[in-house]
Amino acid sequence: MMLSTGPALFAAPGPTPLPPEVLKAMQAPAMDIWEGEAVEVTDQMLAGLGRIFGAAGPVYLHIGNGHAGWEAALANLFSPGERILALEAGGYARNWGRMAEALGLEVETLIAPEGEGLDPEAIVERLRADRGRSIKAVMAIHVDTNSSVTTDPAAIRSALDRAGHPALLMIDAIASLGCAPFRMDAWGVDVSVAASQKGLMAPPGLAYVAAGPRALEAHRSARLRTRYWDWSLREAGPLYTKFCGTPPTHLLLAQLAALQVLEAEGLEAAFARHRALAAATRAAAAAWAEGGAIGFVARDPAVRAETLTTLRFTDGRDSAALRALTRDGLGATLGVGLGPEGAQRFRIAHMGYCNGASLLGVLGSVETALTRLDVPRGEGVAAAVRSLAGAIGVPEDAGS
Ligand SMILES: *Cc1c(COP(=O)(O)O)cnc(C)c1O
Repeated sequence: MMLSTGPALFAAPGPTPLPPEVLKAMQAPAMDIWEGEAVEVTDQMLAGLGRIFGAAGPVYLHIGNGHAGWEAALANLFSPGERILALEAGGYARNWGRMAEALGLEVETLIAPEGEGLDPEAIVERLRADRGRSIKAVMAIHVDTNSSVTTDPAAIRSALDRAGHPALLMIDAIASLGCAPFRMDAWGVDVSVAASQKGLMAPPGLAYVAAGPRALEAHRSARLRTRYWDWSLREAGPLYTKFCGTPPTHLLLAQLAALQVLEAEGLEAAFARHRALAAATRAAAAAWAEGGAIGFVARDPAVRAETLTTLRFTDGRDSAALRALTRDGLGATLGVGLGPEGAQRFRIAHMGYCNGASLLGVLGSVETALTRLDVPRGEGVAAAVRSLAGAIGVPEDAGS
């Protein structure tokens, strides 16, 4: 028997579930792109994004996914042959680095041990050794969506400062923005990249790149600039100019609606919700791990992400049967595993439009599938319940 008919739960880390307000906002007729609503929506959306980035400087809009944001950032800041240091803690930084190489940049990669963060001292040491200051930028991923390892941007800023190195700090916040605190200006981040479809709860198709003063300075002499990406050509004028062509009107409507959902909850409340959901997921996973067949990919508990949890079967089992059972048998979609041993991995997203009830549905579905597959395990759902029970408040007028 299959029990999947009914409200579907979706816990893959991107694209993430869309709030009803976002779906409704997209039910709109075609609109004028030269004046009126589309212009106002874009202005409001940009203001909202600036607040969430914690950035006083401009946020550039690019039609495309996260990779478009990566390429836009690179194309706007560098010239062929310049050197970049990629900090690899999980898998995504290497991909961003490959993109930089294809654009003609020299990329050097510092690689953290699997499931751990990079040692800040190793970064300081590498930067100190760069006496000629040939490294123009350091790039890192705030939350690596492959391994669910977090890199602290403030710690990298501190490493740059301790080394007295002038390289730009570029952070990919695609899988954290809107879910975990991000303070671009306060942390001394020069360039931040995000995209619409993860924690920002909108459909895929918009990339956001926030640029600080030092990035704008580097932009002036960058020779990788092309007509489509070039920020200088996007600064002023109608939306048609800002987007280098027709703006994605309905994605703009969707993103503004999603930001309004986020602001109605309150950013701090949204961060606290993600912290609590992450803690409950880890509690469940730690209990499952007691059976000896499942483990965290982020081995170091200090670097585990607030927005997703990557697990793996340590007994060599493939995760496909588990994912098929949760999806087709129960109605909960998990994320596939990526990277080395990806076949044994699976990912549970707790990012964006999700809550205690939806998470319990997902964790319960995983545990049900583990039971059906005879995977040895401890009591994960019971642990998640205890964790959530400790996190929620009791309304004052309840219980009487
Ligand atoms: C999803 C993701 C990307 C890539 O974004 P696409 O929209 O798939 O191109 C890059 N970095 C991180 C951290 C991500 O989560």
